[in-house]
Amino acid sequence: MDATAFLAACRALLGEAHVIADEQGMAPYLRDWRGRFTGRALAVLRPADTQQVAAVVRLCVSARVPLVPQGGNTGLVLGSVPDASGRAIVLSLARMQTVRQVDALNRTMTVDAGVILQRAQEAAAEHGCLFPLSLAAEGSCTIGGNLSTNAGGTAVLRYGNARELCLGLEVVTPQGEVWSGLRGLRKDNTGYDLRDLFIGAEGTLGVITGAVLKLYPQPKASVTALAALDSPAQALRLLSIMQDHCAASLTGFELMSAFCLQLVAKHFPALAQPLAGAHAQYALLELSSSESAEHAALLLERALGAALEQGVVRDAVVAASAAQSRGLWNLREHIPLAQAADGKNIKHDISLPVSAIADFIAATEPRLQAAFPGCQLVCFGHLGDGNLHFNVAPPKGVAHDDFLLSQEAVNRVVHDAVAACGGSISAEHGIGALKRDELARYKSPVELNLMRAIKAALDPLGLMNPGKML
Ligand code: FAD
Ligand code: ZN
Repeated sequence: MDATAFLAACRALLGEAHVIADEQGMAPYLRDWRGRFTGRALAVLRPADTQQVAAVVRLCVSARVPLVPQGGNTGLVLGSVPDASGRAIVLSLARMQTVRQVDALNRTMTVDAGVILQRAQEAAAEHGCLFPLSLAAEGSCTIGGNLSTNAGGTAVLRYGNARELCLGLEVVTPQGEVWSGLRGLRKDNTGYDLRDLFIGAEGTLGVITGAVLKLYPQPKASVTALAALDSPAQALRLLSIMQDHCAASLTGFELMSAFCLQLVAKHFPALAQPLAGAHAQYALLELSSSESAEHAALLLERALGAALEQGVVRDAVVAASAAQSRGLWNLREHIPLAQAADGKNIKHDISLPVSAIADFIAATEPRLQAAFPGCQLVCFGHLGDGNLHFNVAPPKGVAHDDFLLSQEAVNRVVHDAVAACGGSISAEHGIGALKRDELARYKSPVELNLMRAIKAALDPLGLMNPGKML
């Protein structure tokens, strides 16, 4: 089957409107969220349901057309856009938007893969439940993308990442068969865990079309605070104090350097910055209580009081209303947006043992400064999870594109230091096309061979998101 016959078959299957092959129509699907790369494609296909996805995959197999699954296209590692060859199709799940079932008693929800994360949160809330996955792209990223990247976000500390929030999957295999594993079971020891294989696979092993998600009771109340600190080491002490006092009630602990908040102030001047001043670091804390707002406030007050007494915290503000709490979270969530508005930078999404973080920052920042004098570190992240977004922006006066030429050298400084600490080069964004070479550099040959064997066994034709991850 040649390309023309393939597209004709796709049109017959999906209808004219859902096979987009013109440049303008395809453009938003081909450009990555950060605007770093624009790929080419044969067409963008928008199936309506699982059976159509399976039929598309079978057409791809018979015509040997590679395919790139895509959800909200908010991924940050060039996983969701095709390469420059123009041979692949983009398989967009955007039309698959059905919340299939909410089982409040089982505390599960079954959804199509194209359901937007925020919609999933709302559907859970409509049934008095909480779907805790939360990240700044939640207005446009999809459950299929969240699972395929094993997304993290701001509630991992308490609820785990996407993998921990998924009980079952429906997947279209690289052969175009449907594996229906939509089980709402918390215990199921019946052999290899296929679900866990597809989660975090970045579309390289199959297309996720549906998922059973775990729900939680909604907390009665939550309280948010912003604390000013002298250093990452003090932030770690604060984390420890908070965990001792609040245990599982501590649902968020985010670190932001002063420079991050300066970037937010520059690009989003309307956002209030209650502790703006001469502090080096800030921690955003969130506590949830299953009892009451008073209980949450009391827990926070005790913990912050202890931290102030021990000289760990310099200053702190506690949100007095939901709007103020939203305002504090807005500061954190606008950091990636402020960075994007400021221009390209070299991003690292690293995972470290929590106990190693302060030493890592203290050792790595001077190394970067020695190698790239004047470079600006945009360091923020999910401190409670040991996950830093350790991004490096150009020195003042250096063009962003010019600085990107140093990406390889900057990566070496950061990732070698990560490896030396027993860390990981990707905590939550994944590998995609962007970090493929880095993965090959830092994984052991044994681990890489196991991964390649799995890929070859499931996708022998190599049609599933080729050139990504492996
Ligand atoms: P896409 O970008 O469309 O795809 C991502 C990958 O998954 C690609 O490899 C794609 O091929 C594959 N894929 C997508 N759908 C499917 C499917 N149905 N079946 C098989 N493969 C599929 N990530 C975090 O983990 N934590 C954060 O805090 C976070 N914050 C972010 C903030 C902003 C402002 C932005 C833009 C991104 C952020 N991200 C974060 C990254 C990104 O939003 C998440 O990784 C998200 O989970 C991707 O979902 P998506 O639907 O946009 O997937
Ligand atoms: Zn993050």
